[in-house]
Amino acid sequence: MTDISLLPEVEAFLARRHGQYIDGQLAAAPDAAAIDVINPSSRKVIASVHQATPAQIEQAIASAHEAFTGVWQRTSPARRGELMNRLADLMHARREELAQIESLSSGKLIGLSRAFEIDYSIAFLRYYAGWATKIHGRTMSLSLPSANGEQYTGFTLRQPVGVVAGIVPWNFSIMIAVWKFGSALACGCTAVIKPSEFTPLTMLRVAELAVEAGIPPGVLNVVNGNGATVGPAMIAHPKVAKITFTGSVPTGTGVGVAAMQAGLKHVTLELGGKNPAGFLRDFPVERTVDGIIEAAYLHQGEVCASAERFYVHRSRIDDVLESLHRRLATLKIGSALDENAQFGPLANAAHFAKVMAFFDKARAQDGEIVYGGTAAPGDGFFVQPTAILARSQADAIMTEETFGPVASFLAYDDEEEMLHYMNDTRLGLTASVWTNDLSKALRLVPRVEAGTVWVNMHNYIDPAMPFGGVKSSGIGREFGEAFIEHFTELKSVIIRY
Ligand code: NDP
Repeated sequence: MTDISLLPEVEAFLARRHGQYIDGQLAAAPDAAAIDVINPSSRKVIASVHQATPAQIEQAIASAHEAFTGVWQRTSPARRGELMNRLADLMHARREELAQIESLSSGKLIGLSRAFEIDYSIAFLRYYAGWATKIHGRTMSLSLPSANGEQYTGFTLRQPVGVVAGIVPWNFSIMIAVWKFGSALACGCTAVIKPSEFTPLTMLRVAELAVEAGIPPGVLNVVNGNGATVGPAMIAHPKVAKITFTGSVPTGTGVGVAAMQAGLKHVTLELGGKNPAGFLRDFPVERTVDGIIEAAYLHQGEVCASAERFYVHRSRIDDVLESLHRRLATLKIGSALDENAQFGPLANAAHFAKVMAFFDKARAQDGEIVYGGTAAPGDGFFVQPTAILARSQADAIMTEETFGPVASFLAYDDEEEMLHYMNDTRLGLTASVWTNDLSKALRLVPRVEAGTVWVNMHNYIDPAMPFGGVKSSGIGREFGEAFIEHFTELKSVIIRY
């Protein structure tokens, strides 16, 4: 199995001195500490990125603020949408280049980078661009009594909140950033994006393309660096009006607290999950196994929406696990740039260590490793796709998010028990119910505690469908019309005449 050849423009991009993208310019900080970007397929350094200095964070936010009160406010909604669509065109034209950089830095299989990371990012960007001309207030009929014949009329204005700080994890470094800046720009806000320190490269390229597309300098800025340093500085900055964060529950909780302490700022939190998939007794074994593979192993399980807890009827669980074992054994594990690989490396060393520790925990708690549970051969951060039969619902493997390719199973005896297990968590991002009995599915859906519930599918997202968590999986919704609420303020105007 061999890697595809890198495009010359990818080689040239990697060789650059990287840092931030501020006010339409690349801004390296030669004196600042640099972070090595590691290729998860080989553990080799592919580039190095200077961390943002405090002065650069200040410049990025000042530039976004100037653009917000100046050029972007003067840009009509129709023009904003046009420019965003132009950026989508450029991303389409640069699809392979962006996909290669993404696979090199995140370990995402190249096919997935092309068809999911880049193509979905483009679809989301176009969706947000379409909304730019459809954001408006309402005219109201007022009920105020009139003492002297005066009358009243009222209307609402939907106004952009201002500068948006978007903090993004490493699993979808372009797409999740697009969710943030696409929403912001459509509403008339400007954005400063902080990618994860593990995947700082792709957004630098996208920000350059934005300026090439005609989006004015300052509207979209990128600052890189360690999250615990750069993140709090952005949140606390008085010119940042809103924070939109995607990441883990502990970090997100801290971000929410910091946003409140910094002056009750707007905040959207898209956090982790320990998402369940419940297979009803009627669902055939082979389709169950197809469903498990779809739900658990996409991008090595490094998908916030993926399922990690699987509930299968006791009468079927042995057959399902036997068949899953056979299927997992056929998956070709390989480099992210190998088009024949079906399963790539984990994204970084820390995450590799975390997933390996879960294997140990499962063994320590007497979980039965049905398949995997070890590192896989190769120089990169490779682990086996893993299936574990838990001993009980209380096992760590059933309660803590691994964010890796670890599917944990428990048998149930009746549907009420299955539903109880599915909801028995403080998290609630996604869930799926699998059955051929539509009326059973429709009765279960309202009782499942999750922001998204799929029936006979998992991991499908669409720009039109609001996405977000209930319980500790987050606050707010991205996509759909719902995003507008989170990036605008409603102003009431009342006129006496
Ligand atoms: P983290 O919470 O560790 O990091 C997320 C982002 O926050 C990164 O950019 C990180 O920077 C930054 N950060 C770290 N510390 C701080 C801080 N103190 N203040 C502000 N920002 C900070 O998550 P991961 O990157 O490990 O991503 C995995 C998690 O994200 C999983 O729990 C997953 O479920 C969740 N997720 C949720 C999604 C959703 O839509 N609900 C989608 C995708 C992932 P740095 O990396 O440089 O430290």
